[in-house]
Amino acid sequence: MSELEEKCKELFPDIRLKEPLENHSTFRIGGPADYFYQLKDEEEFSKVLDFCRNQKIPILILGGGSNVLFDDKGFRGMVIKIETEKIEFDLNKNKVVADAGVPISKLLRATVQNKLSGLEKWIGLPGSVGGAVRGNAGCNGLETKDILISAKIFDLKDSKIKEFKNKDLDFSYRNSKIKENPELIVLSATFQLQKSDATEEEQRKIMMEIAKNRGQKQPYGLTAGSFFKNPSPEQPAGKLIEEAGLKGKVIGGAAISEKHGNFFINKNNATAKDIIELANLAKRQVQAKFGIELKEEVQIFTEKNGKTLAEKQAI
Ligand SMILES: Cc1cc2nc3c(=O)[nH]c(=O)nc-3n(C[C@H](O)[C@H](O)[C@H](O)COP(=O)(O)OP(=O)(O)OC[C@H]3O[C@@H](n4cnc5c(N)ncnc54)[C@H](O)[C@@H]3O)c2cc1C
Repeated sequence: MSELEEKCKELFPDIRLKEPLENHSTFRIGGPADYFYQLKDEEEFSKVLDFCRNQKIPILILGGGSNVLFDDKGFRGMVIKIETEKIEFDLNKNKVVADAGVPISKLLRATVQNKLSGLEKWIGLPGSVGGAVRGNAGCNGLETKDILISAKIFDLKDSKIKEFKNKDLDFSYRNSKIKENPELIVLSATFQLQKSDATEEEQRKIMMEIAKNRGQKQPYGLTAGSFFKNPSPEQPAGKLIEEAGLKGKVIGGAAISEKHGNFFINKNNATAKDIIELANLAKRQVQAKFGIELKEEVQIFTEKNGKTLAEKQAI
């Protein structure tokens, strides 16, 4: 163990060294992170950050890992996986405050149990509250911006905790101020819901129906969801990739789903390199055939121009 690793272990005994990132991404791809910290307690956040800053260790924030592609060589720095999990209801005002680390599935269950409605359309939406706020995640016509009241955010620029109202977050399709400013870290979010007249059983039935529809459209397998943003509602990336003749295309262990052109799958021990090559092929073919530039929705923390993007994006 290096001197720095020893120091780190002494201050944060739960920290893991050389943690395989494949275990923390729905793609199941990624080499080791030098340091890996599971943040369970918000109070610890500034301590870990101070340590990283003092030691000049780059930081990468991780939520549920459902929208990331890690480098095959891993990450030379500290991955902070946000696993804070408090959920607090204000039943008089039909509001819920959820920590950034709360999985959307858990939040949805808790709201139904508390006879609140509003999140049902998110059945099957992977990831954490923090990841959803940052990327304005959504499905079935419900985006984060539609129900978010405010978010509590740690600003790395001045190490202050700030409350951002919905309108301050500049939400747009799969985008927000947080995505544009990697120094903004979501700590928790407040959502506006409504009282539900339906029984828990009735709400579950509605969700089962939504989940069934979703299952018919989306493939199973090791994936990070839609790889590219839709250039426009009329031109979804999946349709463009399909019309470029690439459904089912395989490079190495990676494949474009037969079911949905915008789903890239780790079919057989794919590397990040395989996925990137496949994505670049899709970009080239779609550009050549339709003159449209596809832009990644998945956050890529992998090699580019000899320097890892992770290093560039890391804080
Ligand atoms: C099968 C499948 C289906 C999907 N379907 C949909 C869908 O229908 N709609 C949709 O919108 N998305 C979909 N996705 C993508 C994904 O679920 C969302 O993007 C999700 O919101 C990502 O959240 P996460 O916690 O997993 O983020 P991660 O993958 O952990 O991180 C994504 C990015 O957010 C950053 N980040 C994470 N937490 C924080 C935080 N607290 N503060 C600041 N930055 C943070 C990370 O640094 C990274 O850059 C799907 C993914 C899969 C695997």
